[in-house]
Amino acid sequence: MRKFLFALCLLLIANCFNAQDLKYYLPDSVTYNPSIPKPKDIIYHEVGEWHITHDRLVNYMKAIAAAAPDRVKLETMGLTYEGRPQVLLIITSPKNQQRLEEIRQQHVKLTDPSQSSSANIDNMPIVVWIGHSIHGNESSGANGSLLTAYYLAAAQGKQMDDLLDNVVVLFDPSFNPDGLQRFSTWANQHKSKNLVSDPNSREFNEVWPGGRFNHYWFDLNRDWLPAVHVESQNRLAWFHKWKPNILTDHHEQGSNATFFFQPGVPSRVNPLTPEKNQELTGKLGKFHAAFLDRIGSMYFTKENYDDFYYGKGSTYPDVQGCIGILFEQASSRGHLQQTNNGLLSFPFTIRNQFVTALSTLEGAKALRKEFLEYQRDFFKQSSNRAGAFATKAYVFGDKNDKAKTFEFATMLKRHQIQINELPDSWSDKDFDKNSAFIVSLDQPQHSLIRGIFDKTLDYKDSLFYDITAWTMPLAFGLPYKEITTAASLGAKVESLNFPKGEVVGGKSNYAYLLEWDELHAPAAVNEMLTAGLVIKVATNTFEMQVAGANKKFDYGTILIPVGQQKDNTETLAIKISALAEKYRLKVYAITTGNVNTGSDLGSNKFIVVTKPSVAMIVGPGVNPTDAGEVWHMLDQRMNIPATHLESSVFNRVDLNKYNTLIMVGGSYPDLNKDKLKTWVQAGGVLILTEEAVSWAAQNGISDVKFKRAKAPVDSTQKLTYTDREQIDGAQQIFGAIFGADADLAHPLTYGYNQKTISLFKANRVFMEKSKNPYATPFYYGSKPLQSGWVSRENLDAIKNSAAVVVNTVGNGRVINIADNPNFRAFWLGGSKLFMNAIFFGRVIDAASARTEE
Ligand SMILES: [Zn+2]
Repeated sequence: MRKFLFALCLLLIANCFNAQDLKYYLPDSVTYNPSIPKPKDIIYHEVGEWHITHDRLVNYMKAIAAAAPDRVKLETMGLTYEGRPQVLLIITSPKNQQRLEEIRQQHVKLTDPSQSSSANIDNMPIVVWIGHSIHGNESSGANGSLLTAYYLAAAQGKQMDDLLDNVVVLFDPSFNPDGLQRFSTWANQHKSKNLVSDPNSREFNEVWPGGRFNHYWFDLNRDWLPAVHVESQNRLAWFHKWKPNILTDHHEQGSNATFFFQPGVPSRVNPLTPEKNQELTGKLGKFHAAFLDRIGSMYFTKENYDDFYYGKGSTYPDVQGCIGILFEQASSRGHLQQTNNGLLSFPFTIRNQFVTALSTLEGAKALRKEFLEYQRDFFKQSSNRAGAFATKAYVFGDKNDKAKTFEFATMLKRHQIQINELPDSWSDKDFDKNSAFIVSLDQPQHSLIRGIFDKTLDYKDSLFYDITAWTMPLAFGLPYKEITTAASLGAKVESLNFPKGEVVGGKSNYAYLLEWDELHAPAAVNEMLTAGLVIKVATNTFEMQVAGANKKFDYGTILIPVGQQKDNTETLAIKISALAEKYRLKVYAITTGNVNTGSDLGSNKFIVVTKPSVAMIVGPGVNPTDAGEVWHMLDQRMNIPATHLESSVFNRVDLNKYNTLIMVGGSYPDLNKDKLKTWVQAGGVLILTEEAVSWAAQNGISDVKFKRAKAPVDSTQKLTYTDREQIDGAQQIFGAIFGADADLAHPLTYGYNQKTISLFKANRVFMEKSKNPYATPFYYGSKPLQSGWVSRENLDAIKNSAAVVVNTVGNGRVINIADNPNFRAFWLGGSKLFMNAIFFGRVIDAASARTEE
């Protein structure tokens, strides 16, 4: 008997590890339409035998749509950076498919309070978005999508008909196609015929940067709100086209865990999310629990994960009458891995994802009316919420940086937030009609607008899964204003028209001037330098006659003298005008070098700008998202090609071709520091952010001094074993916004006009101010916290600390930036600082940066 049981066990294990056929996964009580291709018919292997590549995944989804057109419609939402299609299957009953557009229109009415009362929800299907593997190396979700798609297309019977009649499924097999492709290649190329389960094996240890990220090494599960990336933008368009009631987000967690489904930690729910949202999340959770119980899978809820930051897929829906659900399956990473819970097989992880997709749909069907009513009510309440909120509207816009203003407005419109022009009666001179907009809070997206604009300083908890504040106008460095009286609005903005570029005064025989304030000014200057033009930057202010009026030009104004160029006047005029057009910039054609006040154009206060040749150190130890943010900034926004140097390459190549090196947060154990120091001493500009600042100081490259935060407890305090998690955790800086004072005459602040610059900090690097009074261009005062949560001890350390310190090392400069100026590519308020370091690091006078002895 014992022998028999042992053999049976082995058989079960073998079955579970190899997943010979679909029987392991699919409910056996159901019959399947034989005309629908099984995954293997299309992808050439069983589900779970190999990791699905994105191209094969798409092939299967296309095959399903072709074989079951009465149930399945395939849409392409758009293409990723690497040109992979983001497919969306719309799955529902044949009857519903025939009137799909009508169903969509009826459904969307629920989100419009002016129409929702007339919508009849008695027979209205619920709309459920099932989404997979936004982290490409958490691939059991995407692999499970093969099964769910097959099941929904092929399963027969009354129960299935009933489900499809009541539910419209928006089925997204892969949230992050480029990451999934990268990871599947890795996992498959290391698979042995005899599965190796040792976690030390290469199969389980991806090379940097890994498959988690998109093409630019960004975490797409932080981008739902900023929507910087094409993948998010494509997806959001369909989210808002359909306004789903439920959106699921299938992830993986550490291999030693079990399975998590929401609700998460109750005290960490964003206060803008209604209580009813969590109640419905809990009701849906009963279905996941029952389905997982049935197959014997362990799980947990209400711990670790939270619903705070609205940039995550499971939280973004929560502020819009929808319910986001996070699933986290323990990862087998490769095909079979030894864990604390025994052997964890890839097929086992896939099965849990499949089963919870089914439990979601079953729950959605059962709770259909309650979810539809909740959605309708959520939007109906928006007007009441607006009435109870002190701020009635926000005005935003930067006269000097229209590109940034338009990027912000574009972001709002992506979320279907209505924006208006300023009214004719507008009189506040800080904002003008050509470069500012107004957003009323009395509109259906009231709560999301607050999620974008609110500053937060009160929190119920001191632990967070992600950042604690993201106040978007601060992040963009955009002037904005709260209006607290009934707001009058100008015309509704239907489509955004980005202002055209121009050369004021046409062709010049003498010089051109370009202000540095615009977001894309560095891109234009880089093109000029690449074309071999001689460019100077003003280190002083001046006023002169332009187009018949006196105009003030600020520090950082770019001067293009005509007589010093190789190009003749005509050719130069064509180039300048083309760049003004391309980057939508205003350039001034000048006829004289004689100014009214300040430095004349021939003064040595105008310093020649050298073309930056940039390399960034990347590879193991370096924080991939920090590096990705720099890559994205330079490549996508500034059109500047930069070399990505691995430490091993750095150590053996000639560095003379680079005049600018970038090192971001992370560790650099293998970098040759003597070689780096020699390069700086010879005149290089080394730009350091976050932990790289500490690394350089520890390795004798800079001599920045640091402050330490006080310990939160002392040895005399009586604490329990379980207090530690909360107390230690609270000393992390999860991410908050601090206002730095800026020395607006310093080359690193060129292009800024506000005295206080909002910077983002998610580290514990606290720099002392330099003893040289000219070497700390950004510094924190006694009340630096603008929005977010930070412990008292950490806040004390940040007070009166330096945000940016410049060192002289030989003929070179080291620019130490304690925070992350490029955070998640929406921190446009920091991008000028970063670009200034690249373009003007060499301009900084040695005496203003000298290291104190
Ligand atoms: Zn994940």
